[in-house]
Amino acid sequence: MYDSIIIGCGAAGMTAALNILRNGKTVLILEKESIGGQIATSPKVENYPSIKAISGLDFSTQLFDQISDLGAEFEFEEVTELEKEDDIFKVTTNYNTYEAKTVVIACGAEHNIIKAKGTDKKGVSYCALCDGAFYKGEEVSVIGDANTALQYALLLAGICPKVNLCMLFDHYFGDQYLVDKVEKKENIKVYKELLLESVNGGDEMESLTFKNTKTGEEIVINSKAVFVAIGQTPKTDIYSHLVDRNKQYIITNEAMETKTDGLYAIGDCRNKEVRQLTTATSDGAICAVGINKYLS
Ligand SMILES: Cc1cc2nc3c(=O)[nH]c(=O)nc-3n(C[C@H](O)[C@H](O)[C@H](O)COP(=O)(O)OP(=O)(O)OC[C@H]3O[C@@H](n4cnc5c(N)ncnc54)[C@H](O)[C@@H]3O)c2cc1C
Repeated sequence: MYDSIIIGCGAAGMTAALNILRNGKTVLILEKESIGGQIATSPKVENYPSIKAISGLDFSTQLFDQISDLGAEFEFEEVTELEKEDDIFKVTTNYNTYEAKTVVIACGAEHNIIKAKGTDKKGVSYCALCDGAFYKGEEVSVIGDANTALQYALLLAGICPKVNLCMLFDHYFGDQYLVDKVEKKENIKVYKELLLESVNGGDEMESLTFKNTKTGEEIVINSKAVFVAIGQTPKTDIYSHLVDRNKQYIITNEAMETKTDGLYAIGDCRNKEVRQLTTATSDGAICAVGINKYLS
């Protein structure tokens, strides 16, 4: 039996683990994909206090090292069920069932899938850091208008001769700092009010067809790959009997408590205004304080 099981090894989950472990409690982290969650796919983080710039992967690795040194247990397993019986949580994964006195849902959010003809083609990617290098020297496109899309465009502009940034609306939703950087890059061309209609080509992608949402005009943009960053949604259905939700986001109070005693939700899966690294780690620290009190 663990004092706490944390579902998700992203920034929020690892920060909760850090602060629970420092109080001498036992922690198991369950992660279905990769250490670090979303931030591990970020080319460069420049808004985390006291760190001028760091790659998302380095940030995640350092945090993982920190909690491993404190004795965090970790398994690569996907949580498929969560139940509470007689004050004990039973956490079922694709391989095992574990028991814990408290559970932290830190399952983050997953990228939204773009829907248009041909989007199952080779060259459609949701991670520029993972796949960008395959298209070095090629003309590529990014679809999206917030921070992730801006970061992808900047990363790709360093390795590709031309990057087309295709936005659905006529304005950016990202930080002004990133917008300024994008607008100064000579090899990033920004297109506004475009809706993707199709991805074209045979075995290799050749172009993208968009419709201008204002004029109805069709526009074809040459592209060997397209990197999509059009928002995220959390996958929280398996917890729905134990928590209240707004859309898919889990509702908590300021102490990160859900409606079930001993069950907490933190990070990007939580119903809140700002989803970024600082708020994920802040949620993790706050919930750890509550858990340490709850356990004692
Ligand atoms: C490309 C990119 C760049 C970004 N850049 C910045 C930036 O520069 N600055 C900034 O402040 N923010 C940035 N963000 C946002 C930031 O990464 C997130 O707000 C933050 O990392 C969220 O952390 P989290 O722990 O809540 O969730 P996630 O990072 O989403 O982690 C959740 C983890 O839970 C796992 N999981 C989900 N369900 C299960 C399950 N059933 N069983 C087991 N494991 C499960 C997932 O696999 C994942 O690893 C960026 C995001 C992206 C995608």
